[in-house]
Amino acid sequence: MPSSPCNLASPLTVLNGVGAALAKKLERLGLFRVEDLLFLLPLRYEDRTQLVRIGALTAGSRCLVSGEVMLAETVYRGRRNLLVRIGDGSGQITLRFFHFSRQQQAQFQPGVNLTCFGEVRKGPAGFEMIHPEYRLLRQGQDAAINETLTPIYPATEGVQQGRLRNLTDQALRIMHNYPPEELLPPEVRDQLYLPALAEAVAYLHRPPPDADIERILEGRHPCQQRLAFEELLAHYMSLRSLRLLAQSESASALTGGQNEVDKFLRELPFTLTVAQQRVVREILTDLSKPHPMMRLIQGDVGSGKTVVAAIACLKAIACGVQAAIMAPTELLAEQHWRSFSAWFRPLGIEPAWLSGSQRAAPRREALDAIADGRAKLVVGTHALFQEGVQFHDLALVVIDEQHRFGVHQRVALREKGVSEGGYPHQLVMTATPIPRTLAMAAYADLDTSVIDELPPGRYPVSTIAVPETRRDEIVARVRTACQSGQQAYWVCPLIEESDVLDFEAAIASHAMLTEALPELRIGLVHGRMRPSEKERGMQAFKDGLIQLLVATTVIEVGVDVPNASLMIIENAERMGLSQLHQLRGRVGRGTTQSHCVLLYKPPLGQLARNRLAVLRDTNDGFVVAQRDLELRGPGELLGTRQTGLPDYRIANLVRDAELMPQVQIAAETINRSAPNCAAAIVRRWLGDAGRYGKV
Ligand code: ADP
Ligand code: MG
Repeated sequence: MPSSPCNLASPLTVLNGVGAALAKKLERLGLFRVEDLLFLLPLRYEDRTQLVRIGALTAGSRCLVSGEVMLAETVYRGRRNLLVRIGDGSGQITLRFFHFSRQQQAQFQPGVNLTCFGEVRKGPAGFEMIHPEYRLLRQGQDAAINETLTPIYPATEGVQQGRLRNLTDQALRIMHNYPPEELLPPEVRDQLYLPALAEAVAYLHRPPPDADIERILEGRHPCQQRLAFEELLAHYMSLRSLRLLAQSESASALTGGQNEVDKFLRELPFTLTVAQQRVVREILTDLSKPHPMMRLIQGDVGSGKTVVAAIACLKAIACGVQAAIMAPTELLAEQHWRSFSAWFRPLGIEPAWLSGSQRAAPRREALDAIADGRAKLVVGTHALFQEGVQFHDLALVVIDEQHRFGVHQRVALREKGVSEGGYPHQLVMTATPIPRTLAMAAYADLDTSVIDELPPGRYPVSTIAVPETRRDEIVARVRTACQSGQQAYWVCPLIEESDVLDFEAAIASHAMLTEALPELRIGLVHGRMRPSEKERGMQAFKDGLIQLLVATTVIEVGVDVPNASLMIIENAERMGLSQLHQLRGRVGRGTTQSHCVLLYKPPLGQLARNRLAVLRDTNDGFVVAQRDLELRGPGELLGTRQTGLPDYRIANLVRDAELMPQVQIAAETINRSAPNCAAAIVRRWLGDAGRYGKV
């Protein structure tokens, strides 16, 4: 049968041995086209390029040996074992099989030569290999030695290694005959000393015997960097094109309102920090342009992002159009509603409120006011952008604590607010500062401002880790603090993402503390309360009616009670560093020295010890984030499940983030000198479906 013409873009079914059933399985692994196989890189390699003398074997190694069958016998050790003893003159080794056919058994005649590969272990009678891969040799045939290292691919349900090797062999042959287009311009490759694409792919799938395997396993081989670089570039350019697209769209240019903003600043009870002033300037400049702003504010917890957002909203409102601020939780949205009401009511601006749990009548009323433009400022949760919400002339959307909102939501939001006047301006504020290079990769669709300064007069929170066996001591400390007029949080353990168990733990801690501290007024807030109950609890704490607030991690983001200066966190060893940093950011907001006690269940492993030490040693959220990134990977830090960032096939955002500055430069070069390459790179790595927007 003549083989049909095929190339790297062909479906996998053009390969020998791939029928509909296998194609389905491969599809589940994200493999659709021949080219996709090339980007499925081996996890590790085995050396079958040289024979090891049996006499020189060591336990634990995986080796290729060749020898002559001395003896084959079946023995019973609970079950039937086939033992085949082979020797090569330097020594002997036993091959042990538990599963074997009569035919197999018959092959192993004394005097037959074979080559086999497997792990060497100590057996009852010297070294043995259990179920080695083997090949019988014909009379006079040489041992079967491979010319390249043998790739071991990522475990793949129901697709055997042998099969994957065969498929990648075929794909590599096709690549050889129809080389992929080299999409990186020579100046980019030369500058970074990166090999050509086809060369890099071939090398990583079938490395020569003398390859620097250690470097490959660390992911730092130039061939890997070549592929990682192009992949990072693809993601970056796809996100960046959203940004470029926005620059070609129209938005209301908000040029007026300076008097109102100045007046607001004069009447604020504090002066903005230099960093806040800089970021406000950047935002106001963006807003004055007739294209939608897409800006991210990064700032450590407590750096004062809310007031910056308020100024942006005021600017819009003073220009006669609507602004909306959206928070990820009801608790946080409610808090914003209170802050914004306090700031804006004196100016005659009454914020409207929208949330998922709202009753029908007030909701109807809010919707009407939003639709006819009476509501100039709208505060709420994601309910803000659900069906049935019609804005009159929305010109600015602020999204607080963004890691809960992914790329797709950001895009959807923009589309939602689109009207005759154009797109709304978008301001996104992060909950978790993230390292610069990671931000470049994850938020390439946004411009970034950083508030890298805390308001004056703050003392860094002093943090200690204490085993929970010393709980009594800590309870006594809470008593002393509260009796001297301070307030405290007691944060309950987070139990495996289950809000039922969280809630039970909170009830138990609350009972324990109420009994131990009868003289204190103790409140409780947890995720299963109705929003109004929660709000009542928080408000009582804010008003000082409650001295000690027992809470689940619902208070993680945003909550602001400056008089609270002590926080106890139970089972701190189970939480992520950035989350702990967020939590402790609830204290240290006033003018007294604040403390955070991380209670842990001993014994603590070395890694957990190091993690908690990071919090003891620094109060800088960017440093915490960098360490968190190294310890847990970007998925946790960015909340990948929600961010909509697709998985990378080859690049690793921790390992390869250092490439980002060059990726950024290369993207500019390519967009300028080879724009059609840009689209092809995005298509190669993200396919037609996996892209972020309409590139
Ligand atoms: P975050 O950046 O974590 O969202 P917030 O906006 O909640 O921080 O601000 C934390 C606290 O600091 C609030 O009580 C806020 O009013 C106060 N604050 C903000 N900016 C300043 C400033 N320049 N000087 C003094 N206090 C400020
Ligand atoms: Mg905030």
